[in-house]
Amino acid sequence: MSGPTLDRLGRPLRNLRLSVTDRCNLRCSYCMPEEEYVWLPRGDILTFEEAAYLVDVFADLGVDKVRLTGGEPLLRQGLERLVAQLGANARLRDLAITTNGILLAERAAALRTAGLHRVTVSLDTLRPDRFRTLTRRDALAQVLEGIAAVPRAGFTGLKLDTVVIRGVNDDELASLIEFGRSVPAEVRFIEYMDVGGATRWSMDQVVGRAEMLERLERRYGRIEPIVETTTAPADRFRLPDGTTFGIISSTTAPFCADCDRSRLTADGLWYLCLYATRGIDLRGPFRGGAGPEELKALITGGWRARTDRGAEDRLALGNRQPLVQIGGLKRDPHLEMHTRGG
Ligand code: SF4
Repeated sequence: MSGPTLDRLGRPLRNLRLSVTDRCNLRCSYCMPEEEYVWLPRGDILTFEEAAYLVDVFADLGVDKVRLTGGEPLLRQGLERLVAQLGANARLRDLAITTNGILLAERAAALRTAGLHRVTVSLDTLRPDRFRTLTRRDALAQVLEGIAAVPRAGFTGLKLDTVVIRGVNDDELASLIEFGRSVPAEVRFIEYMDVGGATRWSMDQVVGRAEMLERLERRYGRIEPIVETTTAPADRFRLPDGTTFGIISSTTAPFCADCDRSRLTADGLWYLCLYATRGIDLRGPFRGGAGPEELKALITGGWRARTDRGAEDRLALGNRQPLVQIGGLKRDPHLEMHTRGG
C-alpha cells in the first residue's frame, strides 16, 4: 500500500462501520418510531464471505478500524463466523461492535473467542418503565445481563452509548455515570441527532454538550477535559474522583474536519457520511465480477472526491427540521439510520 487514501479535505480513509443487518429487536423512538418498515431484500444482503472480502479491499486502501453495526448486529445468525474472518485480518488493529445488548449475555464469550476486540452497548436509561416506553420492548433486564457478561468474557474498554433527549432521559446523566463506574464501563453521552429515521426530532429536545457539562459540574464539581489526539467522535472528560466519560456533540459542535469514517450497508452500499443521501454501490460491481483492482479504483475514486461535512452543514442551517420525512424514508430505506449503521 502506498500512502493513505485522502479525501478532498485531506481526511484519510481509515474507519469503516460495517452494517450486517437492517433488522432490530427494539423500536427506539429516536430511530425506529414507525409501525412498519421497508426491509432490504434478503438476496441483496452480503454473505459473510462477501463482506470479509470487501473489508480486505478496504484494508488494502488503509482501513484499519472496523465496527460491526446494524440494525442490531447480533440478530445476524452466526455473526461470530464473520468476526473470526475479520479477526484473522492482521491489518485490522481495531475490531469492535455496537449492540443494544439484548442478545449479548449468551454471545459475549463466543465473540471474544472469535477475535472481537471491543464492545459498545447502547443504553439510554436504567429505568425499566422508561426503557419500555422508549424502545417499545420490555428488555432492560436482558440488556443489563448483556453488559455484565462483557467484562466476564474478558473484554476491557467497554463503552455505554446514551442518546440524551430532553424530557425523556436527561435526568439520568449522573445515574448512568454511576452505573458505568460499577460495571466498569465508560459512558458516552450522544447529543440527539437529526439523522434519517429521527422523524420526530426537534432542536428543543437536544441537550447540548455545554448543558450536560454544566449539570454534571453542579453534581460532581470541577470537570477536566482530557486532551487527546484521536479522531474518535467523543470528547472525553474526567470527574474529580477520576471517573471518565465522553460526550459526542454531533449536533452542537460537529467534528467533520477529522472524520475518517464511512459506512457499508448490509447490502453493500457505501456511504461517505452519516448524512449522505446517496451511496456508492459496491455489491453490484462485486457480484458482477469486478476484481480487487476494479473495486479499489471505485473506492479510491469515491473517497478522493469526498467533500462531505454533513453535521456541519446541518449546523449552518437556520431553521433545523428532521433530515428526511417519513415518505422519503419509505421510498429509500437506505436513508434510515438502522440501515446505515448509525
Ligand atoms: S456528519 Fe459526516 S463528515 Fe461529519 S462527522 Fe458525521 S459522518 Fe463524518
